[in-house]
Amino acid sequence: MHEIILVFTLMSELNSGELIKLKRLIKELKSKEGRGTELISLYIPAGRQIADIMDVLKSEYSQAGNIKDRTTRHHVQESLVSIMQRLKFFNKASENGLVVFAGYIAGNAPGNEKFEIYLIEPPKPISIYLYRCDSHFHTDILEEMLKVGNKYGLVAIDREEASFAILEGSNLEILETITSGIPGKHRAGGQSARRFERVIEILAHEFYKRIGERMVKYYLQDNKVDGIVLGGPGPTKNDFVDGDYIPADLKKLIIGVIDLGYSGEEGIYELLQRGKELLQKVELVKQKEEMDNFLKLLNDDPKKLAIGIKEVINVLNQKNISKLLIVEDSIIKKVEYICQNCNTLNEEIFGNDPLLKVKQNLKCKICGSENIKITSERDITDEIVDKAIELGAEVIYLSKNISESESIRSNFQGIVAILKY
Ligand SMILES: [Zn+2]
Repeated sequence: MHEIILVFTLMSELNSGELIKLKRLIKELKSKEGRGTELISLYIPAGRQIADIMDVLKSEYSQAGNIKDRTTRHHVQESLVSIMQRLKFFNKASENGLVVFAGYIAGNAPGNEKFEIYLIEPPKPISIYLYRCDSHFHTDILEEMLKVGNKYGLVAIDREEASFAILEGSNLEILETITSGIPGKHRAGGQSARRFERVIEILAHEFYKRIGERMVKYYLQDNKVDGIVLGGPGPTKNDFVDGDYIPADLKKLIIGVIDLGYSGEEGIYELLQRGKELLQKVELVKQKEEMDNFLKLLNDDPKKLAIGIKEVINVLNQKNISKLLIVEDSIIKKVEYICQNCNTLNEEIFGNDPLLKVKQNLKCKICGSENIKITSERDITDEIVDKAIELGAEVIYLSKNISESESIRSNFQGIVAILKY
């Protein structure tokens, strides 16, 4: 079950060490490259029999025999053997499934490749099977799993120090604190006081430039944040924002400048408290924008939309989806039932309609008989979301708290998609 966790609702999990470790690992894995298309990513769904996976890997092994480049062929086959050796110790994927990354990581010179293998038990059940051999690892599904909302940059500054942090969902990571070395004010009088002021101005200018450089690195390059909140005591923060220290594309990400009692790391924690409402509002504003865009398309170009579960599943199968909008507590279920009259196995997919009511109306699609027996019923929400992610679509969870969600839920079964073309 996924939810868009509005920022701070999970403050108590701020120190969820495991999650932070896993995020760091993913970041590291993302940076790794193979010398050719030889890095293997394998997602095994929860509860899947390992024997099945072994069969697939064996066939991948023999297919890899066709790879022309000798070293690549060698690397792929060795990696597959290594994965199989490790999988032997499992007979079933763990409760949440298993993610495997393996391959020879390119070194600084040809021949310096080093074999690495990672087995990761994901934090939530995986519903999709994926095998990929590429020049990089496919971490996106795992990443999306850890994502619980937008990413924000937090900066707390004054003349003495500046701290930089990233807030993602409930997870706060303090990145760095830098100091200016500017001495306190009012140390001398008269002539030397003026000179002293000038030196301080120069030092402050240098310090702001450093702050600007860090922000570019942390919020544009290393991470793509959805917004930045800046705070601190006194006028420094405004001098900085009004000055020419950051490029325009970073400046437009600033969603608020807030007065604080502290700077540095303490300032960051204060910013979390004071910025709470602001950030929640931004989160909702973004969702509203997505909704407006959807409603506009509904009016102007409805062919670009898939509405309701069946249409969405259809465009997923056609691999034609650019955005998936889903109300946060939607549940999509697949029910299979057998007709007692003609023995046909039917299936039906349901959304947020009250399932009970729908069940009472189940009919055989062949003979129309109402004498049916339900054989299975399962939640396929995650499968649908995972598939959209795998196809490169952006997934947007709509909070229950915005009024439009209710109309998406009642009119479109809580799920709509925007097509690629
Ligand atoms: Zn029938």
